Amino acid sequence: MVKQEDLQTIASSLQSFLEDLHSKYESRGDGTVANYIPELAKVNPDLFSICIATVNGDVYEVGDYNQLFTIQSISKVFVHGLALEDHGRDYLLTRVGVEPTGDAFNAIILDEKSKRPYNPMVNAGAIATTSLIKGSDATERLNRMLDMFEKYTSHNVFVDISVFTSERITGHRNRAMAHLMLNFGMIDQNIEQALDLYFQQCSVMVNCHDLAVMAATLANKGINPMTGKQAVDSRYVKDILSVMYTCGMYNFAGEWAYKVGIPAKSGISGGIIAIVPDVMGIGVFSPPLDSRGNSVRGVKVCEELSQQFGLHLFECWRK
Ligand code: GLN
Repeated sequence: MVKQEDLQTIASSLQSFLEDLHSKYESRGDGTVANYIPELAKVNPDLFSICIATVNGDVYEVGDYNQLFTIQSISKVFVHGLALEDHGRDYLLTRVGVEPTGDAFNAIILDEKSKRPYNPMVNAGAIATTSLIKGSDATERLNRMLDMFEKYTSHNVFVDISVFTSERITGHRNRAMAHLMLNFGMIDQNIEQALDLYFQQCSVMVNCHDLAVMAATLANKGINPMTGKQAVDSRYVKDILSVMYTCGMYNFAGEWAYKVGIPAKSGISGGIIAIVPDVMGIGVFSPPLDSRGNSVRGVKVCEELSQQFGLHLFECWRK
């Protein structure tokens, strides 16, 4: 496992390694861009960027790293952090579990016994988590969420209105999950408000550079390395990373933990964040997805980075 003191050694080869990785996978054509809403279906499948931000604030990046896209499911990680801050881990655990499902991210299932959604990284769990965000009304809840994202990105963020509107119009499956949870008393009456906030969090615009800085903030005990400011209470970083490690890559989470070995989260627009605790955050963006909804190039890039630099958390020896 790589440590902070290894950073200097890694850093010298990082930029050229990223450039080589980018050229190696740039022409790879497999995977399908998400097409459940027109805004995602029309994205250019060739967009591709890799970015690494270290806990010291150094950035290495290649490709279309300024290209904006909607954060989608990667938002679940950060909203989980906000819900932990709002309610603490004990209460949160009564409403959302921390068990991987082995099922698709949008499976309509709850834990038989507890009636909780399985974890905050699948849609049902994320909707439940989002429904717990505090605020006196919908505007205050949205503003608290945007403020939270801004602490991680170090700049203003906004919601893409056309993606949000499409998500809302077509989100029947998510609506069904919300109704199921309402039936079991796992979320409160106002499910349309909770769903709106969930669709808004998915529609927040970021670029690959932002993803790396957000990931580096989690790698850095919740302190944004660019601003030096705390984005999330450091007490909760271990909770966030544990759930990412076991559940962040959907029904590929086990294989990912085995092969890549670091906490990560993917989103349906093609982003992946991965965290090397105390060392760095990785962001990859490439829209074509595999059958589980993870970016094809993103997975490959992270596998190679992990192998090359010994990033796996349980790697006991150095090359
Ligand atoms: N907006 C998508 C949904 O709720 C996000 C899913 C994802 O990124 N996997 O279905």
